[in-house]
Order: sequence, then structure tokens, then C-alpha cells
Amino acid sequence: MRIYLDYAATTPLDQRVADAMRDFELKYFGNPSSQHREGQQARAEIDFARAKVAKFLFCKPQEIIFTSGATEANNLAIQGVINSHIKNYKIKPHVITTKLEHQSVYNTIQELQSRGVIEATFVSPSSNGLIQADDIIGAIKDNTVLVSCIFVSNEVGSILPVREIGQALLRLQPTTYNLKPIFHVDAVQAAKFYNCNVEKLNCDLLTLSAHKLYGPKGIGALFVKKGLKIANLTLGGSQEYGLRPGTQNTSGIIGMAKAIELLGSLDDRSEAAQNITKLRDQLISSVKNGILNGPTGEARTCDNTSFTFFGLDQDTLITALDLEGIAASTGSACVSGSSKPSHVLEALGRTTGQTAATVRLSLGKLTTMAEILRAVKTLNNIVNRLEHEK
Ligand code: PMP
Repeated sequence: MRIYLDYAATTPLDQRVADAMRDFELKYFGNPSSQHREGQQARAEIDFARAKVAKFLFCKPQEIIFTSGATEANNLAIQGVINSHIKNYKIKPHVITTKLEHQSVYNTIQELQSRGVIEATFVSPSSNGLIQADDIIGAIKDNTVLVSCIFVSNEVGSILPVREIGQALLRLQPTTYNLKPIFHVDAVQAAKFYNCNVEKLNCDLLTLSAHKLYGPKGIGALFVKKGLKIANLTLGGSQEYGLRPGTQNTSGIIGMAKAIELLGSLDDRSEAAQNITKLRDQLISSVKNGILNGPTGEARTCDNTSFTFFGLDQDTLITALDLEGIAASTGSACVSGSSKPSHVLEALGRTTGQTAATVRLSLGKLTTMAEILRAVKTLNNIVNRLEHEK
């Protein structure tokens, strides 16, 4: 039996989600923008799904924009804020983000900076992957228009103090230019376990992706606070309140809403987090010769482990694990296959050689203690063998 330990890259589709999507596809094929009954039925189902996602985030349905995934949602958030600012102000915008971000935030902000469109500050984490709210707030300048912060690191599992950052931003006095930084949270890895109440987070924008929540791939959502004007990236029709033109991925939306519904209440999610923490800690305490990347204890998300095996090669490790029936990854699936070292591991002070010796094992709702024990035994054996072969 194979052991899947790459839930941070994607989660298996829940059967109940697949059923909801198939039922919808067969019954409601209409274009949700069409006026006839077939269209309106599809539209009503989408509205229902939108309301479910809104309930999860404690916001209004009209504040949910469905996108093709979190990469698009993050781009819409960042470029949407910047383009809208540029249209309305002459001041060059400053953006604050962190070195723990996913590529869809990190590379977007880097690219805008290199094109001279924005000024940017990339806040560094401590060597154990932590960032304090003050590190972000301290970087605010007169021209800061956007703070974009990951909630839970997909690579090293740090939980960032997004609630504290949101509260501190709320207390901030408007700058000389009368700007108040807009706050964007990438909650992709956090939503399964942690509270994404946008009011409590005091955020203006928040990103979700369905395939990290036992939902389908190719569908995500961006929360856009009522009243916030962001520019759209794509031009076209008026779907998704004009912010994301194009016929909606209807069954994807139904699947996303179902997956979110199945996450249950906050209590259910906390219980799931507690159970998975035990598996994570077993894994952390029994992996030999690997140095844990990222924080320990409460500051680490319950489902992530990341180890650097000094002197070994991660591709050899991943392949050897795969041959033994274990699916693990080197870090972010979005850069797998690229020769670029992980900017996140570099920010933690790992050298290029060390970043190339890193294995991420991420856990999910189907993970069992028996699987963890077998995976650890296999990993330790592989590491032992490779070290002897050096
Ligand atoms: N943000 C984070 C934190 C992620 O982990 C990912 C997926 N690895 C994304 C954004 C991009 O998500 P998607 O695959 O839906 O584009």
C-alpha cells in the first residue's frame, strides 16, 4: 500500500465532493449567465455555493470571487490593488510581504519591483522560520499600499501572526498620503485547520484554493472586502462582479463549496488539528539525521514537516522513497523541476547545497500512525544507506 505524505501539494478528492460535482454536472449544464431556466438553475446553485464559502469566511456572498485557483487569486489581489492604486495616485506604491510566501505572491511582487512599478520590502524570518507582527508593521512607509502575508507556510509550516498584523493595521493612523495599507492574506494552507474569519483577521483580501481542502483542482476564491476597489486582470464579461470575467467553472465551484462545508465547524477543525499534531510530532521525534526546518510546537502548523539531510541529494531521497511506496516532496510542488533553490529555505539561512537536501512530508486526514511509523522507518533506512554510499 502506498503512503501519501504530500498533502501540502494537493489533497485527494473527497468522494462526497466528487459525487456533488457529478450530480451537478449531469443536472445543471446551463451557462449561469444565461437568462433561461437552465441557466438560472445553474446560477442558483452557484449562488448557494458562494454563500457556503462566504459563511466559512464570515463574509458576504458578494465578497467572494471565484478564480482558477490560488495562483490567480493571489495575482488578482496583488496586481488588482497595485493597478487600481496607479490609476488613482501619482505616488509609487510600496508593498510589504515576507520571504515565506508562495511563488504566486513572491514572484509577482518581485516582478513588479523589477519592472519599477512598485517598491517592495520582503520581511525575513528568523532562522526557525518565524515572523513577528512588529517586523511587518515596522516596515510600513508613507507610501505602503499593500501588505501581503501568508497565513501558514507551505514549505516550512510556520504559522504567521496574521491576526495580530490585521489588528495592528487597524490601529494604524493614515500615512502622510492618507493611505491605509490594504491587507491580503494567503490562507491556502491554513483553511483546513485555522480560523479564517476575515473580520477577526481584519483583512481586505484573502485567498483560498479548493485542491488543498479535498476539493477539485483549478478552482479557488478571493475574498474582496466590500467597498475595496481592485482592478481586474482579465477583460471580458461581467461574471464574478466583473472582477473575473469568463464562464465560471461551475462544477468546480460546487466542489469547492462542498469541500469547505465538509471541513466542519471550527471545533471540528481544531479537533482534526489536535489529532494530526500527534502524528506530526511522532514523525519529528523519530526522523534521524534530518534537521527540522521551521518552528516547533504551537508556532508550526499541525500537518507539515520539513527536514534537511546535510550532504544528501533530495531528488535521490524522493525517488528512493517513491520506490518504497512513499510520496514525499522536496518543498513547494510549484517549483519542483526547477533548478532554483527555494527562497524560503534560503531565507532561513540554508545554503544552496542544504536547500537541495530538503524533504517535506505533509500529513492529511487519511494519514494513520501506522503509516507514519512505516514512513519513518523507511526514510531512516534510506538516509542510512545513502550516507554509507557517500
Ligand atoms: N499559496 C499557497 C500557500 C500554496 O501552498 C499554493 C499551492 N502550493 C498556492 C498559493 C497556489 O495554489 P494553486 O495551486 O491553487 O494555484
